[in-house]
Amino acid sequence: FNVPVPVNEPVLSYAAGSAERKLLQQALQSALSTEADIPMYIGGKEIRTGNRFAVRPPHNHGHVLGYYHYGDKSHVQAAIDAALAAKSAWEDLPWEQRAAIFLKAADLIAGPYRYRLNAATMLGQSKNAYQAEIDSACEIVDFLRFNVKYMAEIYSQQPPVSPRGSWNRVEQRPLEGFVFALTPFNFTAIAGNLPTSAAMMGNVVVWKPANTQVYSAHVLMEVFREAGVPDGVINLVYVDGPEAGDVIFKHPDFAGIHFTGSTAVFQNIWKTIGENIHRYRSYPRIVGETGGKDFILVHASADVKAASTAIVRGAFEYQGQKCSAASRVYIPRSLWPEIKDRMLQDIASFKVGPVEDFSNFVNAVIDEKSFDKLANYIDGAKADPDAEIIAGGTYDKSKGYFIYPTVIVAKRPDYVTMCEELFGPVLTVYVYDDEQWEEMFEVIDKTSIYALTGAVIAQDRYAISQATHSLRHAAGNFYINDKCTGAVVGQQPFGGARGSGTNDKAGSMINLLRWVSPRTIKETF
Ligand code: GLU
Repeated sequence: FNVPVPVNEPVLSYAAGSAERKLLQQALQSALSTEADIPMYIGGKEIRTGNRFAVRPPHNHGHVLGYYHYGDKSHVQAAIDAALAAKSAWEDLPWEQRAAIFLKAADLIAGPYRYRLNAATMLGQSKNAYQAEIDSACEIVDFLRFNVKYMAEIYSQQPPVSPRGSWNRVEQRPLEGFVFALTPFNFTAIAGNLPTSAAMMGNVVVWKPANTQVYSAHVLMEVFREAGVPDGVINLVYVDGPEAGDVIFKHPDFAGIHFTGSTAVFQNIWKTIGENIHRYRSYPRIVGETGGKDFILVHASADVKAASTAIVRGAFEYQGQKCSAASRVYIPRSLWPEIKDRMLQDIASFKVGPVEDFSNFVNAVIDEKSFDKLANYIDGAKADPDAEIIAGGTYDKSKGYFIYPTVIVAKRPDYVTMCEELFGPVLTVYVYDDEQWEEMFEVIDKTSIYALTGAVIAQDRYAISQATHSLRHAAGNFYINDKCTGAVVGQQPFGGARGSGTNDKAGSMINLLRWVSPRTIKETF
């Protein structure tokens, strides 16, 4: 097979005075001075219902970036119909032709759309320039380019043996029916990957993004259309989740769901699919990445600078709103004074504010619901003798949903914020006696239902080996001497098990294989 050899898209620095900084600032200005009118896309048509909702930057909720047109059940039904109508032509298209569309989409994002898509992610999801660049420029481009390579590999795999007089082969058919992509707010790259990875393998898709990501989803859809995704292959709807579910999960042609979001929603979806299982033509593919309660375990042999940097970056980049964010850390008493000083110094240097000022490291959390939930946990910690807040603990929603980077020290390893997913810039630390090192494995394993990411920071090779082995089920992505965020496509396939998902590794062949249903053919001569 002959597809371009992918390399990771280089991350631009946006240094002061750089050409890219100017271009990004122009894109931000242009977005801020225009009022976008955002339609749904069904069967290639722009659908405007007139039932409009405002898009506002989380860090400046007094400003309106535009309005998106909200649909109802009839639009979900229309999207399914359009998808099914597009299906046979799409799956009959030679795979190289599909590959070309997604490679072109990658080039459009890496090139002419880069600043516009980054600006949309910055404003709509409150991401600083660096966080937007690694997401809506680099990661989405990597997903598209690497998936094309994995796709080519999948199509080239054949059974190794065909005895004389016969020819055995495997044909990778798309699923029978349509795929539902239900995508999250926190990564534009994931929002783009979930529909395109299924579509690439010849499937047709109904895509419902989170209401809080519509602003950048709209730009992605423009890219897909310009790249040549045919009408009806990816249909983008903005509708209430349960309403969409009511139409989709009762449809006989429902063939699979590609999901990233909360554990509770995913479990509900799984239950609903179970209840409707008799309706479907085939057993649907259920692929989901859900929550996390990601840990950093520091050993007494750790380099304290490496430890504190991993902790503060893992916990506070993008306001802790990565599924992979470090939210519970275990630090030996012997290192705690030094690590604490370094962490507090770093946190004191973080500027908190809107994305338009490039010096702000921490921006707003996504919406009022998330803000209130986080404020509630912080208030709980203030009132609890088992917790002490040593940084942050303040919040302000007068202009935007700002939660100041907060560190709670828990007196018990099963304190509530050591166990539950908060999804915000609130980190909880448990200080253990150095001789309790081995006990920490069980504590980490038992105090959370999740198993997404985790890290061990240590110099001692025995400690590294012990942690790597003992925590083998506690994380699907495990880091040694690094933060637990920032998986790169083509380098660290991403996903976790237990309460964190089906571990079908975004950006890998494992994931793409979920979107095909192979037919084995034996021909006798
Ligand atoms: N892949 C991302 C990372 O490693 C996290 C994805 C997510 O938040 O869902 O940082």
